Amino acid sequence: MKLRLLTPGPTPVPEEILLELAKPMYYHRSPEFREIFKEVNVGLKTVFATSQPVLTLTSSGTGSMEAALVNAVSPGGKVICLIAGRFGERWRHLCQVFGMNAICITVPWGEAVAPEQLEKALQDHPDASAVCTTLSETSTGVGHDMKAFGDIVARTPAVLIVDGVSGLGAMECRTDAWKLDLVCTGSQKALMMPPGLAFVSVSEKARTAISRNASPATFYFDLKKALKSLETLDTPYTPAHTLIRGLRLALARFTAEGMENVWARQTRHAAATRAGFQALGMTVFPKRPNSALTVMRLPDSIDGTAMLGRLEKEHGIKLANGQEHFKGTIFRIAHMGSIDAFDLLAALAGTERVLRGMGHPVELGSSLTAFQKTLVENAP
Ligand code: PMP
Repeated sequence: MKLRLLTPGPTPVPEEILLELAKPMYYHRSPEFREIFKEVNVGLKTVFATSQPVLTLTSSGTGSMEAALVNAVSPGGKVICLIAGRFGERWRHLCQVFGMNAICITVPWGEAVAPEQLEKALQDHPDASAVCTTLSETSTGVGHDMKAFGDIVARTPAVLIVDGVSGLGAMECRTDAWKLDLVCTGSQKALMMPPGLAFVSVSEKARTAISRNASPATFYFDLKKALKSLETLDTPYTPAHTLIRGLRLALARFTAEGMENVWARQTRHAAATRAGFQALGMTVFPKRPNSALTVMRLPDSIDGTAMLGRLEKEHGIKLANGQEHFKGTIFRIAHMGSIDAFDLLAALAGTERVLRGMGHPVELGSSLTAFQKTLVENAP
């Protein structure tokens, strides 16, 4: 049986990249690496929509979040954390570990933090050094109004740190135009790579904050060192350079398609996927859905955990369950990276068959029709 991986990370890696990853080992302090790294840095700027440096780190996505925070904020510093789910909570945990004073604005799962809430928090805490937020909250499918957040934070001395781990490269994110200071992501989601690389873009305001922080609470993730090394197309420590060689091909795909087209395609696929599952009696879970992944709420009559288990076992289709208190009642499907319309149609077709097998009344083909219609109606 063919496995179809439709989880919001990791996502499928295209064959040409897998073949690139299978090439023999090479040396990292070499003209060959610098040539590759040069091209990768240009490609990263395209995907991040920035002209600022984008640092490549060897870690999972959380490493880039930790790096951004500890470099931009000194121990004891005040950080406003905007929390709309499990990944927003990570900012609070990071602040706790590094002895920062986290001011938490928390909304229920499925809701987005409103720009007015951020505005009020910054009025109440004008001494905040940073605002930490999430572009795509992967636990709920919420997307935040990052443009509005950027405008608000730009008027203050604080830097805006964005967890773009599941959103960047899948949903519209204009790092420079929206004034986002540190945007973090990992390789295993929209960038269609295996896990192992993380990235963080650094604005001028962020560079000032970083340079003022004389003793960041880190050795490995010292971004001053990473910025210095980047000037000579190098990294402070051994990079995951075989992954970087593969990444070059992933980034070439984005450059060839153009980010505006990527974002528009993702939006179409998101709308079609939602229409498909809605035709099966499910409802969209997030109040402000984003186009990197779709999160659906199931009718009470359907046991989500059983449905997802059967989808995987009987059809090789792997979707993600709800997390924590939403396990079994919501599920998550990605349409980022190299996942295409036919992968999504397969997931809908499989879901129809499983629901029928579980005794739920389903008109075969109804979700496929809704998907196809939405896609065709929104064709460019
Ligand atoms: N933030 C978000 C929004 C995520 O989706 C994830 C991964 N699911 C992370 C952070 C953590 O990334 P990683 O597991 O690569 O450290």
